Amino acid sequence: MPASVVVGTQWGDEGKGKATDYLADRMDLVVRYQGGNNAGHTILAEGHTLKLQLIPSGILYPHITSVIADGVVVDPRVLLEEMDGLRAIGVDPSGLVVSGNCHMIMPYHLELERVTERFLGKNALGTTKRGIGPAYGDKAARIGLRIQDLFDEKIFREKLEIVLKEKNQVLTRVYGRLPLVADAIVDDYLRYAERLRPIVVESSKLIHDALREGKNVLLEGAQGTMLDLDKGTYPFVTSSNPVTGYALASAGIGPKHVERVIGITKAYVTRVGAGPFPTEEHGADGERLGERGHEFGTVTGRKRRCGWFDAVVLRYAARINGLTELFITKLDVLSGFETVKICTAYRADGETYDDVPPHQSLFHAAEPVYEELDGWTGDLTGARTTEDLPKAARAYLERVAELVDVPIGVVSVGPGREQSLPLSA
Ligand code: GDP
Repeated sequence: MPASVVVGTQWGDEGKGKATDYLADRMDLVVRYQGGNNAGHTILAEGHTLKLQLIPSGILYPHITSVIADGVVVDPRVLLEEMDGLRAIGVDPSGLVVSGNCHMIMPYHLELERVTERFLGKNALGTTKRGIGPAYGDKAARIGLRIQDLFDEKIFREKLEIVLKEKNQVLTRVYGRLPLVADAIVDDYLRYAERLRPIVVESSKLIHDALREGKNVLLEGAQGTMLDLDKGTYPFVTSSNPVTGYALASAGIGPKHVERVIGITKAYVTRVGAGPFPTEEHGADGERLGERGHEFGTVTGRKRRCGWFDAVVLRYAARINGLTELFITKLDVLSGFETVKICTAYRADGETYDDVPPHQSLFHAAEPVYEELDGWTGDLTGARTTEDLPKAARAYLERVAELVDVPIGVVSVGPGREQSLPLSA
């Protein structure tokens, strides 16, 4: 009764969508466990480029049940639009179910996030402005509305009116905006409810039963370990927990079910927005990585910061998540550099750290200690086994696995399914 977890080991955008899509072949259930419509998985399969923000990547396989579990915050309008988008390109979304316990993103979350980000000016977090942070905030404050609330109109209206009273005070008195009207929200959300009703389930029971029947379950995280609300570079983080531990809480299963924890790791590092990033390259190498790797956000279009591979971050992610294997992506992007660098430790305040420094100020000040390896040339995207890779590229991979003490399961050399090379040990 095995469950596997797919988790990002860096600052997100590691290629989890592609990895999940590759792994999904052998899965029966794919479960998205946190985040909202800010994740932006890109999948290339059967001639389609699909940008999914909420729906798990497994949706492309007809045999898979795709589950949106409790820990995800759902904007019902976006969910329905994504389902329509899939239908429009001939993908049947009927394998999708969503937990009634998911908190919903409401119109005031979007509105409040927009105005607070504007209010913060240059100190703004640079969020995706999808209302995700405010929705998680209300969940913790116990004033959130859940999908299941939609199916009792009286309760839904009652809860909404209570929350809206306070939200409207903030919107009008603090930010000088117009108040939102409860009736309009109720009308819209009850319409969504009608369409959502057939796919709403008790997801932990569904997942548990699948595991008991010996089915394969893949738990898919969004963002990455260094963006985790607790374990990342707070406050430059996301408003949920991408780490493995939360996958279990959200799915509602115990750790005994987890057999594999697959760390999705880009062969270099990128990060969107502000916050510490010790191996960031401000010069030509960073530009080159960004251009070759098309490092622009799927959802926001924002240019990502780029830099060399950071083994300190990966070692940390391996520890926090209990990684059993690595799925290395975008190795092809590293072709053509004379030498390639790997950060093995940091120097900060006269000390050397081979783990993430214990204080945020030290992390901000951390200077990378690099090991330089021979680069390689040539186009790797046509490689179909690791034997096809240049010797220097293989040496690079071996060094990465050695530095973090986690074996590499798969190396990816392009966005397509067939560009995933299982590593022969
Ligand atoms: P995610 O949110 O972790 O799924 O990552 P993104 O979707 O933001 O970024 C991954 C991007 O890289 C997508 O456009 C993928 O199609 C692409 N990609 C994934 N793996 C590879 C790879 O091995 N090589 C190249 N060149 N592109 C890849």
